[in-house]
Amino acid sequence: MDVSIVIPLFNEDESLTELSAWIERVVNAHQLSYEIIMIDDGSTDNSWEVIEKLRANNPNIKGIKFQRNYGKSAALNEGFKAAQGQVIITMDADMQDSPDEIPELRKMILEGNYDIVSGWKKKRYDNALTKNLPSKLFNAAARKMSGIQLNDFNCGLKAYKYKVVKSIEVYGEMHRYVPVLAKWAGFRKVGEKVVEHRARKYGVTKFGWDRFINGFLDLMSIFFVGKFGKRPMHFFGLWGTVSFMFGLMVFIYLTISKFFFDVTGMTQRPLFFFAILAMIIGTQLFLSGFIGELIARNSPERNHYLIEQKLGL
Ligand code: UDP
Ligand code: MG
Repeated sequence: MDVSIVIPLFNEDESLTELSAWIERVVNAHQLSYEIIMIDDGSTDNSWEVIEKLRANNPNIKGIKFQRNYGKSAALNEGFKAAQGQVIITMDADMQDSPDEIPELRKMILEGNYDIVSGWKKKRYDNALTKNLPSKLFNAAARKMSGIQLNDFNCGLKAYKYKVVKSIEVYGEMHRYVPVLAKWAGFRKVGEKVVEHRARKYGVTKFGWDRFINGFLDLMSIFFVGKFGKRPMHFFGLWGTVSFMFGLMVFIYLTISKFFFDVTGMTQRPLFFFAILAMIIGTQLFLSGFIGELIARNSPERNHYLIEQKLGL
């Protein structure tokens, strides 16, 4: 099979028919053998009924229906597991990504020998303040932390070699950083293609303000797991020691001033205690988060999703 198109979707019943017709047009024009895998991530609208109807008319359309909403990463993960094409292309369901890009993306993977080609929405049709600006900041941070020179990590439109999607696991909210996961797995040849971006035609965005905070925390996870995942002591050992030494010095200072100079009731003392407390709590919280992350990565349940129904898979 030439190409698998993996589409995660959550309440997108309005666009699915139009989207799949457009994809069919493009792949037929290029005589590509294909499958479209739609992963219904717990939609509460008619998305699944629409998928069933589409499948009845075109056996190349396949579906996975989650029992509940697990998130875009989970949907991609299951789509990747099922995909059989030589090239796998992921695409949002909201018609913001153009299916016209499919042949060129596929060509870049095959002829340019890229492991991944990521779309770059150079010109965006989203809200400038709530999306475009924060996304610029994120991309700059992600570039710096991952060492991957992509302008647009979060673009839903990406193409992968078969081997890449079979070697990585996407979970949590890591769909933003799939190229980083691939890099860890040893796939380094990452290309970028400027893609046409369109305004959302139907429905509304499924990610609210928490995208910023979750995106940031995931970036931190990516960074720490990548850098210190195999040697957490190098990070926590250092900062734990620094924090402990600071606390010890303040303690010695307090002891000396009390017993040798009889200084008591200094106003800054509560401040010192507060500082130490804050540092210790900070370190503890951070450490807990990091350990939690490492445990989660090893949990056999980390990518276990209840699938209510499958079509064609
Ligand atoms: N999506 C999903 N599960 C979710 C949230 C979103 O499968 O929990 C899908 C959504 O239906 C769409 C894609 O992920 O196909 C991108 O979502 P959206 O367009 O809302 O994100 P934005 O373009 O605003 O970043
Ligand atoms: Mg969108």
